[in-house]
Amino acid sequence: MKKVVIIGAGIGGLATAGYLAKAGYDVRIYEQLDYAGGRAGTLDMDGFHFDIGPSWYLMPEVFEHYFALMGTTAAEHLGLVQLDPAYKVFFGSGKPITIMADQACNVCTFEAVEPGAGAALTRYVAQSSDIYDASLRHFLYTNFQSLRDLLKWDVIKRAPTLLRLTTSSYDHEVRRFVHSSRLQRVLEYSTVFLGASPFDTPAIYTLMATLDYRDGVFYPKGGIATLVDTMRRLAEQAGVKIVYNAPVKNIIVEQGSARGIVLNNDTRVEADIVVSNGDMYHTETALLEAHYQTYPERYWKARNPGPSALMMYLGVRGKLPELEHHSLLFVDEWHENFDAIYHHKRAPRPASIYLSRATATDPHFAPDGHEALVVLVPFPAGIELSHDEYETLADEYLSDIEKMTGISDLRERIVSRQLMTPDDFGTRYHAWQYGALGPAHTLRQTAIFRSRNKSKKVANLYYVGGSTIPGIGMPMVTIGAELVYKHIVSDRRGGPVDSIERHVA
Ligand SMILES: Cc1cc2nc3c(=O)[nH]c(=O)nc-3n(C[C@H](O)[C@H](O)[C@H](O)COP(=O)(O)OP(=O)(O)OC[C@H]3O[C@@H](n4cnc5c(N)ncnc54)[C@H](O)[C@@H]3O)c2cc1C
Repeated sequence: MKKVVIIGAGIGGLATAGYLAKAGYDVRIYEQLDYAGGRAGTLDMDGFHFDIGPSWYLMPEVFEHYFALMGTTAAEHLGLVQLDPAYKVFFGSGKPITIMADQACNVCTFEAVEPGAGAALTRYVAQSSDIYDASLRHFLYTNFQSLRDLLKWDVIKRAPTLLRLTTSSYDHEVRRFVHSSRLQRVLEYSTVFLGASPFDTPAIYTLMATLDYRDGVFYPKGGIATLVDTMRRLAEQAGVKIVYNAPVKNIIVEQGSARGIVLNNDTRVEADIVVSNGDMYHTETALLEAHYQTYPERYWKARNPGPSALMMYLGVRGKLPELEHHSLLFVDEWHENFDAIYHHKRAPRPASIYLSRATATDPHFAPDGHEALVVLVPFPAGIELSHDEYETLADEYLSDIEKMTGISDLRERIVSRQLMTPDDFGTRYHAWQYGALGPAHTLRQTAIFRSRNKSKKVANLYYVGGSTIPGIGMPMVTIGAELVYKHIVSDRRGGPVDSIERHVA
C-alpha cells in the first residue's frame, strides 16, 4: 500500500485522511497536540464545557456530501438542530434585530426597519443563492486545472454579474440593496467568517447570505466537538492511525520528491506522499529547506493574514435570556472597527463582538443554574500585547457587552474565566502572525490567487486547511480535503466527486 503521512489532525487533515484511507492508502496523521480537531478543540473548566473555536455549523450540504463520501449521513451522527432564532444582533445604538429560521419573518423584520428593505432582502438572497449554487458547481470543488470547467454556459451566462461582483466591494454591493446602517451591518457581518472586512472583500462573497437566510444555521448536539469526534472516528474506521503529541520538525525531500517527515524527537517516518494540514506559512518556512519552498518568507510579506482573536471562556451564574445561542454586537463605529483590526493593527475600541451561548441548546455544558459563554473579539493579527494588557482589555469588552445587551451585572456573575489571546494561536497551532483563521479572503487571496494546495517545488507534497484553497471555515477546509484527494488520484475535473474510488490495491 502507498503510504501517506498527514501533518496535523485539524478538520482538513481528518477529512483528507478519511478520503485517502477509503481510496486504499495507508494513512497516518502526526498531530503535535493531544487531541484531534486543531482550532476546533474544547475546554473543560470548573464544570463548564466550551467549544474553543468554531461554533457555527454552516453550509450543511458540504458536510452531507462529506458524510455521503464516507458512506454515511450527517443525521446518523450529529443530531443536527436548526437554530430558531438563528441569531440576534445588538447595536451600539438602535433596537436589536433577530434573524429567524423562517425567511418570511426576516423579510417583515427588514421591512419594519426600512420601507422596501423586505423586498430588497428577497432580491439580495436570490442573487446570493444563484451565485452560491454556481460556485458549488464550478468554483469551490476545483483545483483550477482545466479551463474547460470554467468555460461552461452555466458560468459564461453569469459573466457580467460575476465581473461586477469581483470588481466591487462587499460593502458597495450591500448598499445597493439597503440604506439603514443597522441592516447594512446585519448583511455585512458575514465577512468575519472570511477573515476580512466588508470594505476589502470582493462582493462575490455576498453569496454568504445563502447560508443564514436560505439554508439556515444548524448546530450539532454536543457542539462542534461532535462533528470533530465523528470525523475522527470515520477516519479511524477507514484505517487511519493518528499519533498525538507528535510535532513534526521537517519534511524529508529526496530527489525533488517528499519522502516522509522527521518528528521533533528525531523519529523518521517514511512515506510516498506528504500532506500538511498545518498553517501554510509554518509548513513552507519551518518544515522545508529554503530551496524547496514554493511560498518563502518574501511571499508572505505582501499577504493579508486575516484577523486574530481575543477569546474569553466564561462560566456565568444565573441565566442569560437576553442572549440567543448566537449573538452579535455591532458597534456604530463599524468602519473604524475594521480599520483598527485590518489597517492600523491596534486593539479595537470599542469593538464588535460575537457571543456564543451554547447552553441555550446544550444546557448540560454548565452546572445547573449557570451558563457557558464564549466571547470572541476579532483582533489584529501580529499584535503583541502583554497578558495584563489583554486582561484589562477583556474587562473593558465585558463592560461594553453589559451596555449593549442590557445584562448590567454580567461581570459580577462570572464565576470562571479563561482567556485565549492571539499569542496562544501562534504557540498552540503554529498560526501565521497568530492568526485565528488564516489568510483573509481578499481578491488577491481568493480562488486561483490563493496559495495553492500542491507544492510547485516538491513532488507528492500537498496542503489542506484554512491557508489554501478554497479557504477558511470548517466547510471550506472539508472541500479542500476533496481537492487534495483529487490531486492525488489525478482527477482533474471540477465539481464534487460522486464517490471515493479505491485507487490502491
Ligand atoms: C475562534 C474561532 C472561531 C471560528 N468560528 C468558525 C465557525 O463558527 N464556523 C466555521 O466553519 N469555522 C470557524 N472557524 C474556522 C475553523 O475553525 C477553521 O477554518 C478550521 O477548523 C481549520 O481547520 P484546518 O483543517 O485548517 O486545521 P487547523 O484547525 O488549523 O488544524 C491544524 C492542525 O495541525 C497541527 N499542526 C500544525 N503544525 C504541526 C506540526 N509541525 N506537527 C504536527 N502537527 C501540527 C495543529 O496542532 C492543528 O491541530 C473559527 C476559527 C476560530 C479560531
